[in-house]
Amino acid sequence: MDEITPRVYQLSGIWGTGIWGANVFLLVGSNLTLVDTGFKGRSTQILKEAGRLGYSPSDIANIIITHHHADHVGSLAMLKKVTRAKVVAHPADAPYIDGRLPQPGPRWLSKTPLHRLWATTPVAVDILVNDGDELPILGGIKILHTPGHTPGSICLFLQQERLVIAGDVLAHRFRLRLPSKAFTADISQEIRSIKRLASLDFDVICFGHGSPLVHKARPTIISFAEILESKYQRVR
Ligand SMILES: [Zn+2]
Ligand SMILES: [Zn+2]
Repeated sequence: MDEITPRVYQLSGIWGTGIWGANVFLLVGSNLTLVDTGFKGRSTQILKEAGRLGYSPSDIANIIITHHHADHVGSLAMLKKVTRAKVVAHPADAPYIDGRLPQPGPRWLSKTPLHRLWATTPVAVDILVNDGDELPILGGIKILHTPGHTPGSICLFLQQERLVIAGDVLAHRFRLRLPSKAFTADISQEIRSIKRLASLDFDVICFGHGSPLVHKARPTIISFAEILESKYQRVR
């Protein structure tokens, strides 16, 4: 578990590469908020980490889901059962989380052992959040709707921490990169969302996969967005 700020902790997969699912974030306020849950089978580890900070499962009041992919919602069913936390997500991804729609994925996935991890247990979403909404957590978390990777992907702007949790809108594995194209619904929308993300005024940015950017985070994202835009315009 890495302390990013005194109120934000990151629980990584192995080397933050996403093995065993995406990074999970613990936000410590008057109660606890989880951001994402990793693949299924990760709930015990998550609750143990919360316990190391002195919290019990019932202290987890909210679970915010950045998007519906199984490496982010896999352990949601078990965590909700144990904690009775409220599940927060965007309406465009809610049908994939509550089981009205199946988890989409590339066709080759069904031929690999990963397909078992990819099938998730449906969980009802309790609170739907839209672009511009503010959650009363850590002094106000602003929701930025950043579709592209999935239709209902969201970024969380923790204004008091000057920190963004970007989900899979971008990844930072050894270098800044786009999310896997095979798992991304609409790449041109995705690039527009990265540009929007760059307009936020933050100092630190955390990702679903890889390590956080803590130095020159915003200028780095701005120049990455500019490079992407010119590259994309060229191919178009
Ligand atoms: Zn992911
Ligand atoms: Zn994803």
